[in-house]
Amino acid sequence: MKLYNTLTRKKEEFVPIEEGKVKMYVCGPTVYNYIHIGNARPYVTFDTVRRYMEYKGYEVTYVQNFTDVDDKIIKKANEENTTMEVISNRYIEECFRDADGLNVKRASYHPRVTEEMDYIIEMISNLIEKGHAYEDNGTVYFDTKSFPEYGKLSKKNLDELIAGASDRVAVDDAKKNPTDFVLWKPFKPGEPKWKSPWGEGRPGWHIECSVMAKRYLGPTIDIHAGGEDLVFPHHENEIAQSEACNGVPFAKYWIHNGFITVDNEKMSKSAGNFFTVRDIAAEFPYEVIRFFILNGQYRSPINFSRELMESCQNGLERIKNCKKDLAYYIENCSDIDLKENENLDEIEKFKLQFEEAMDDDFNTADAVSAVYELVRFINKNSKDGVSKAYAKKEMDMFKTLTTILGIAEDKEAAVDKDAAKIEELIAKRTEAKKNKDFAAADAIREELTAMGITIKDTRQGVQWFRG
Ligand code: AMP
Ligand code: ZN
Repeated sequence: MKLYNTLTRKKEEFVPIEEGKVKMYVCGPTVYNYIHIGNARPYVTFDTVRRYMEYKGYEVTYVQNFTDVDDKIIKKANEENTTMEVISNRYIEECFRDADGLNVKRASYHPRVTEEMDYIIEMISNLIEKGHAYEDNGTVYFDTKSFPEYGKLSKKNLDELIAGASDRVAVDDAKKNPTDFVLWKPFKPGEPKWKSPWGEGRPGWHIECSVMAKRYLGPTIDIHAGGEDLVFPHHENEIAQSEACNGVPFAKYWIHNGFITVDNEKMSKSAGNFFTVRDIAAEFPYEVIRFFILNGQYRSPINFSRELMESCQNGLERIKNCKKDLAYYIENCSDIDLKENENLDEIEKFKLQFEEAMDDDFNTADAVSAVYELVRFINKNSKDGVSKAYAKKEMDMFKTLTTILGIAEDKEAAVDKDAAKIEELIAKRTEAKKNKDFAAADAIREELTAMGITIKDTRQGVQWFRG
């Protein structure tokens, strides 16, 4: 299995630190709003990476934080005349709803900044003791010059960073170097605060991830992930904090997802092309959003458009219909045992194709193609009349591959809220036909069509599907 490591700018073979285990940390959202389609990309991407690792037999410990202390949360709380806690609890809950909709598995741990304060203070104290941080009037800064490798992830040296990154690093006279960043800041009136050796205040943003990764995964982890915008300064700063404090490498592999644009423009609130996952889910099922994200390799930029979403919806429908047809075929097929000419290796070929795609830096776009090819193969075989045993093997393969991608899983098939009603109408229609009441049978078919349901009379009975 190869993955592109931002730290080395190369595709590298994945070798875990501890055999059979993967320790993975993914930067989570700041909770002051619903997550947007851009935020959904790291969610779906790294969930799929995790699923694939688990499929390969690794025991994955997956940590994703919630940033629940932040200026934007405080601002929102003030606007609504409530507390930061109320806002962050609300959006953490909403975030889980969206993540569940996107079929993203829960992390092993979902730590929150407000619950890790003692450990944050401990790490900052440690950095001061070791000469990597300094205090000025209640603010503690990380001293970037004390960490000679600063810039190794973003591939910039300190002087370049100082010259070129003025828009991305805060200007502040108390800093020794412009690239130094805040570990702790004193509180302002009306803001939440915690007691610390440097007075009451709250932590800067970067320190939380160094602390949480260490606490839940240990000082050295296998994979650290997030969106590409986090490479600098966030991840660069995480490396500096963790390695200066712990004296060992922080993360072996750094992986970053590319951005989602909307109508080929950078998505932003001010441009008015900003969509929350919740907005989109009102129009398209959540699983289409997940499928849309998987249709691109995670490092390539992807453009969100209605046309693409519609095409993904059709594609996913084709995959789901294949599963439904196959289940029906298996239930009704009377030819039980494997026939002599049936070759199981032909089914295995799709797994090999799928694995080859995923082993090459998690190329889900090609993995989706392998699923489409499997679907074509199954559809053709069912028409040709394979045995039940063969069809079952096809189903096993279908489930294995789609479960890694987190699509077309049984829970969705069961979710069709109209299923009971549809089955009842189909039974009535069958009864009407048996009684030669064709007008009644046609009326029922029309009723089903109006519900968006297509029915198909087959030798094994009546099948239905949406679309
Ligand atoms: P934030 O809440 O802005 O810190 O973002 C949470 C996660 O979403 C981070 O990993 C970001 O890199 C990622 N992210 C934000 N916007 C986009 C976007 N337009 N496309 C892809 N990833 C994004
Ligand atoms: Zn982080």
